[in-house]
Amino acid sequence: MLKIDKVSPAVLYKVRYCLLIMAAILGLVGCQIGPKAPTTMSFRLSPFELASRLGLNVTEETDRYIEMKNEANRVLIFIHDGGRVFVNQTPIGSTGPVTRLNGTLYLPEILESMIRSHLRSTSYVAPVTPKSQWTPPKTKAAGGLIVIDPGHGGDDPGTTSYLGHYEKGINLRIANKVVAKLKAKGFTVKMTRTSDTTINRFERAELTNRIDPDLFVSIHCNSLPKSTMRGYTVYTSRSASVNSRMAAGLVEDAMTATGLPSRGVQGGDYVVLVNTNCPAILVECGCLSNPREAGLLYDSSFQDKVATAIANGIEKAMARL
Ligand SMILES: [Zn+2]
Repeated sequence: MLKIDKVSPAVLYKVRYCLLIMAAILGLVGCQIGPKAPTTMSFRLSPFELASRLGLNVTEETDRYIEMKNEANRVLIFIHDGGRVFVNQTPIGSTGPVTRLNGTLYLPEILESMIRSHLRSTSYVAPVTPKSQWTPPKTKAAGGLIVIDPGHGGDDPGTTSYLGHYEKGINLRIANKVVAKLKAKGFTVKMTRTSDTTINRFERAELTNRIDPDLFVSIHCNSLPKSTMRGYTVYTSRSASVNSRMAAGLVEDAMTATGLPSRGVQGGDYVVLVNTNCPAILVECGCLSNPREAGLLYDSSFQDKVATAIANGIEKAMARL
């Protein structure tokens, strides 16, 4: 066996030198094959490239999802954060990071193998699904469609604040500000009323169902038994959908920016929440029975703060709907 103490210093130097070079080469190779942030080119595919690799055509691309089809398959890729991927109506996982570069969407390359393993062969004849059982995704205007419902109005003043102001007027002013902010974010927004007119709760729900929005948000201000009680509340119906609860949670969270205390997300079977078909929430922006909040909610700059918070919460909810 070679004994290291019998090797001459010159040989040792050479051995060390070779080892150093080998380590450097291995290090370089390691950098190439080891875990590393994927590069733009290798990691991402445009929807068209992904579709063509899978023998599909992109049949629809909206801000929210991409649909790809061939005669036997339908693939839906939701493109918001961690969006879900469906192949022939079956969820197969989530997209992971999706990015937009210069207006073009790029999807993770891993989607190709994920989707491929779930595709039916194109010679497969898909069973005919009756139209009534098939719910195609809605094609919405960019950013989605929202109905804002300013509570009360006309003959129905709502509650009267500690300072003597009607709730209906405050609701409308906050609602108008919410609408302006949502439009500025690119959403299409409709209102159940835009002036001091009477429209009952059933009509509001019917009107909303005709509009068929992605989200319905009713704007109110609360009145509670004691003037010391305060804070905002976000309601869903007690049997609300997951999407309604998600939207309520996000708006409730965004409302903390107003500085008002939160009374949380609560269940309340209001007509406008129960009779609407879409995700629906009702925001009680604060307590008009409380002297301080009655003053704040009548103040235009505070209304602006409330509207900003609500619009921010709605924006987050819309990204997940
Ligand atoms: Zn009200």
